[in-house]
Amino acid sequence: LSAKNTQYVGTPERESVSICGFCSVGCSLAMGATDNRIIDVNPAHEAHSVNGATLCVRGHFAHDFLNSPHRFISPMARKNGDQKNDELVPVAWDDALDLVVQRLLEIKNKNGPQSIAFLGSSKCSNEENYLFQKIARVQIGTNNIDNGGYIFGQSRLKVLDEKTDGGYRHSRLADLEKAEAILILGADPNHSVPVVSYYLKRAAHRGVPLIVVDPRKTELASLAAIWLSIKPQTDLELMNGLASLLHEKKAYDSAFVDRYTEGFSLFRYGLSSTEIDRISRLTNLEAAAISGAAELLKGKKIAIVIGHGIIQQKYGLHTLGAVLNLSLMTGSLGSTGAGMFVLAKENNQLGAMDMGAAPDLLPGRQSLANDTARKKWPHNWKTHISPDPGLNMVRMIEAAENGGLKALYIMGENPLRALPEPDRVKKALQKLDFIVVQDILNSETAKIADVILPGAPFSEKEGSVTNIEGRIQSFSPVVSPPGKAKPDWKILDLLAARLGNGDPYESVEKIRDEIRQLVPQYASLNAHGHGWIKTNGEKALFKEQGANGLISYYPVVSTEDDPPDNDYPFTAIVGSLRYHLGSGTRTQASGRIGDFDLAGHIGISPQDGAGHGIKNGDTVVVRSQFGAVIREVRLETSLHACHVFVPTGFNDNDAMNLFGLSDMTKPGSPGWKTCQVKVEKA
Ligand code: SF4
Repeated sequence: LSAKNTQYVGTPERESVSICGFCSVGCSLAMGATDNRIIDVNPAHEAHSVNGATLCVRGHFAHDFLNSPHRFISPMARKNGDQKNDELVPVAWDDALDLVVQRLLEIKNKNGPQSIAFLGSSKCSNEENYLFQKIARVQIGTNNIDNGGYIFGQSRLKVLDEKTDGGYRHSRLADLEKAEAILILGADPNHSVPVVSYYLKRAAHRGVPLIVVDPRKTELASLAAIWLSIKPQTDLELMNGLASLLHEKKAYDSAFVDRYTEGFSLFRYGLSSTEIDRISRLTNLEAAAISGAAELLKGKKIAIVIGHGIIQQKYGLHTLGAVLNLSLMTGSLGSTGAGMFVLAKENNQLGAMDMGAAPDLLPGRQSLANDTARKKWPHNWKTHISPDPGLNMVRMIEAAENGGLKALYIMGENPLRALPEPDRVKKALQKLDFIVVQDILNSETAKIADVILPGAPFSEKEGSVTNIEGRIQSFSPVVSPPGKAKPDWKILDLLAARLGNGDPYESVEKIRDEIRQLVPQYASLNAHGHGWIKTNGEKALFKEQGANGLISYYPVVSTEDDPPDNDYPFTAIVGSLRYHLGSGTRTQASGRIGDFDLAGHIGISPQDGAGHGIKNGDTVVVRSQFGAVIREVRLETSLHACHVFVPTGFNDNDAMNLFGLSDMTKPGSPGWKTCQVKVEKA
């Protein structure tokens, strides 16, 4: 017997343990290799690993992208230096690196350091992201640094970091099975982070009540004690409503509130204007259903699983604040099997932020705005660090558009496929004087680069990544990079040496040494096994330190009902299917995922199908004010009338055509999770 989608490609000569390169769960893998190729991937069955004996379809099958013919195997540069007219041709490493250094320094000298930006990677290691942001800050002198986690709303989590000093990141997935109640908000872990869904299913089978809040009837909703089929973007109201009902029932943990929080009176006052009838109207939920959920949660410590339906939505920031309030008033934060379980997409989205690959954060997530924290870095790095935040990913595109940005160095990201308004992004990037792409696969973005530096994925290098629990996991090479490709840390080390200012590291261990010294949260970073991030702010240690680290409540914020849009009467909800991750740059290069022959159907409700004469398999155009998606339809009973589900990652990730390129960090940004559309038969 063999797994359905297994193809015989040889017998592994050796097997090594590594960490999955896809999502933020960070499963342990046993990678079988022969002839310097990964040919087989299975669970590593390691004690204390996050996944034990399980893997999802991506982890199991999609790693064949590592052997893709689209891998870069040599540095490349434009034949005559003309981005628009010349082809990319292989060049020697020395020539490629010299060219990068020469052009970056020319642009810096002519236009200043703020004319250069760096886009780091939510898929590269901690050590690489640390080096990358250090090159930007120390050798170029700019805070214009971000990473691909921006696309998934990572920067919005700052509200939780600031309120709790990172203390919300103490939740362990295994503790979900010990929960008293689990509230799942805007998350479909069955598809986005499948191994998390295994924990949730086991918890449900053990009798832990699940409340699933999602407009769609997800697979977990079928196991839930209560499914709240909420109107998209109104979770904030529901959180306020639940907090208000629990307060009314006196179902809050007054000992916890008194000992670890401040501002409860003001928070209570904010809740006093909450009317359940109004919340029922805004959320499209029966008042009795909301009360039923509050009754189920009463007196319990709650594990709250938060997905991208919350983080990326219009009211994401406020909703995260309201979830924190609920977690505080019920005394859930910091309790075993309770607190906040914030999901992330890419395998090192959290580590990239921890390492300072962000425009407003230094390593250790220290805010540039915090004078005390910032002022120690000139001593560490022997250079001045500006307190002014740099450009985030969307603002980099805007700055390229308006001519303020002249050069962009992109490591392991594909903004042309991942961002909304791809044509606009392409035009903006083509206005730049110089683009460096350091990556493993040819991509939409690489095609417009001036220089390609061929990097290596996790299976071909040494490094570490940090998962959603704060588990720091190290890995070693299973095979060596193909052709002339190099581990990304080595490329950055060579580049830094050419840019001057400091001795090369020459080993991952030396980079780790520096991280361990300068980033106390990463004191346990080492070459073997795993450690845990140490969130050492006063508030993060509130359980031990009591009144020294009081956590304040987020203001109670209300929203208004959006008026109906007669031109675009449907609501499109974009989300993952388990076969693709993120924009699908890597999974679409997997032959085995391709063998599943998936169309990424657009889901519409049977009622809408009947009303518009649309049948299974018909082709439809889903159009927003920004762009369109054309795909086959599947009628899905999990959807309400006037809701459309558009899976991401398929068809060059055209789902992002539906959104505008708004800066998600700005209040009022509509976010990239739902939008108004019309649906027509093609
Ligand atoms: S759940 Fe995530 S980390 Fe685990 S195998 Fe699947 S993609 Fe990889």
